[in-house]
Amino acid sequence: MAVTGARTFKNFIGGEGFDAVSGETFESTSPADGETLGVFPKSGAEDVDRAVAVAKQAFEEWRLVPAPRRGEVLFRFAQLMTEHKAELTELMTHEMGKVKAEAGGDVQEAIDMSYYMAGEGRRLWGQTTPSELRDKFNMSVRMPIGVVGVITPWNFPIAIPSWKIAPALVCGNTIVFKPATDTPLLGEKFVELLVEAGVPAGVVNVVHGGGGAVGDRMVRHPDVPVITLTGSRDTGVQVMRNAAECLKHIHLELGGKNAIIVLDDADLDLAVDGILWSAFGTSGQRCTAASRVIVQDGAYDALASRLVSAAEQLRLGVGWDDDTDVGPVINEGALEKIHSYTQIGIDEGAKLLTGGEVASGNGLDKGFYYRPTLFGDVDPQMRIAQEEIFGPTTALIRVKDFDEAVRVSNGIRYGLSSSIFTRDVNKAFRAMRDLVAGITYVNAGTIGAEVHLPFGGTKDTGNGHREAGQAALDVFTEWKSIYVDYSGKLQKAQIDTAT
Ligand code: NAD
Repeated sequence: MAVTGARTFKNFIGGEGFDAVSGETFESTSPADGETLGVFPKSGAEDVDRAVAVAKQAFEEWRLVPAPRRGEVLFRFAQLMTEHKAELTELMTHEMGKVKAEAGGDVQEAIDMSYYMAGEGRRLWGQTTPSELRDKFNMSVRMPIGVVGVITPWNFPIAIPSWKIAPALVCGNTIVFKPATDTPLLGEKFVELLVEAGVPAGVVNVVHGGGGAVGDRMVRHPDVPVITLTGSRDTGVQVMRNAAECLKHIHLELGGKNAIIVLDDADLDLAVDGILWSAFGTSGQRCTAASRVIVQDGAYDALASRLVSAAEQLRLGVGWDDDTDVGPVINEGALEKIHSYTQIGIDEGAKLLTGGEVASGNGLDKGFYYRPTLFGDVDPQMRIAQEEIFGPTTALIRVKDFDEAVRVSNGIRYGLSSSIFTRDVNKAFRAMRDLVAGITYVNAGTIGAEVHLPFGGTKDTGNGHREAGQAALDVFTEWKSIYVDYSGKLQKAQIDTAT
């Protein structure tokens, strides 16, 4: 279906454009005002198969390109993204909806990651170790694995592809990339710049379409040995199950139900700023968003009233407007889900302190806007305190002391980000030790990761891997141990002992 004014895009395979074999398409529309931004192929299994075959062939050449040269391509990519940062930022405010400052941050994260991984081209360190035998040399090296299936969500449409594609490429793998169907245009732009940076044909391929068709075929394809997916817990479970037959490597970054702890001795001004930013930034649609605020009794009333008045001052609107604090949520389904949790909270007996409604008027009816929502008197076992809402809703939970705060913070199935506001250094260190999460912030909200540290979570947030930092390399390489015997005779480990 062609749409007037909106460009039609193709899958990108082996450096060429292809329509979906089925001929079907879908549209990308702005959650801010409903504008149609592009038309994309609604692909299926045959399209994936074509891309995988090309990527498999390209791997045989790309794996032999010296890693420092592969890193230089990423360096150029980072430079190009810097040149195009303003344009990518503007596009993100339209296609994904986040406000300009945050969209710029999303692009900057991809720039940082690409520079960082460019440097890995000259490291990719293994180990050298002594041998237990004479005249023998031992080392371990990282080997590329093959075709990596990259499946991404819509909430960080430039940053998350970079977290996966940059390390996968520097390690020598080739890519089949399926962007989220809510943000395919940003996926396109990302790959256009990679190609301009010098990625050879076939090394990065894009197949657009839904998770059930394109994603699922990637997950089941025998020639895709690695899947890296960021998405919801339910999707992660399905992917692991569907990949089991092929025993492939699965890297999952899943949901969160992150909490900020505020103790009696905290700097409340700082805590309010941290909570607003973490709960309502990106309209609460971050995996690290603070959807619970655990407050010690003595600070509870003051914090609650300050949060309510601050939340009510936040301006809703289109992300490209400089005055906007909170943009839309991603689509109608998300708006309905978020609103249904407001009703669930009320039915469970939580106290709605502010928000709790779809925002309208002043042009907001054209998009999907939800008022920043705060619940008070929330019991830690209520569904609004246990389930990922993925919207601008947060739950205030009252506790009597530090130990209860840590217990409540840990009392969920997820383990992504955590935070504590306190001036007590002993409690801060105990929190760093006792919060069961992949990330802990002290005197900052739950968001703000930097690309050179590992990123990911414990428990149901993932399956033990980490994105970013050098930890990311473990997803995209296999270790090989190499033994070189230069003694000129057959030496047997564990049997011959060198003296
Ligand atoms: P989603 O799980 O609906 O989709 C994620 C991606 O998986 C999409 O590209 C989708 O098309 C694809 N997919 C869906 N079903 C599939 C299947 N059966 N096989 C293969 N692929 C499939 O998630 P979403 O709504 O796009 O993103 C929001 C979720 O992502 C939230 O749960 C959020 O917490 C999580 N998230 C996690 C992190 C993290 O690093 N931990 C970061 C961002 C978002």
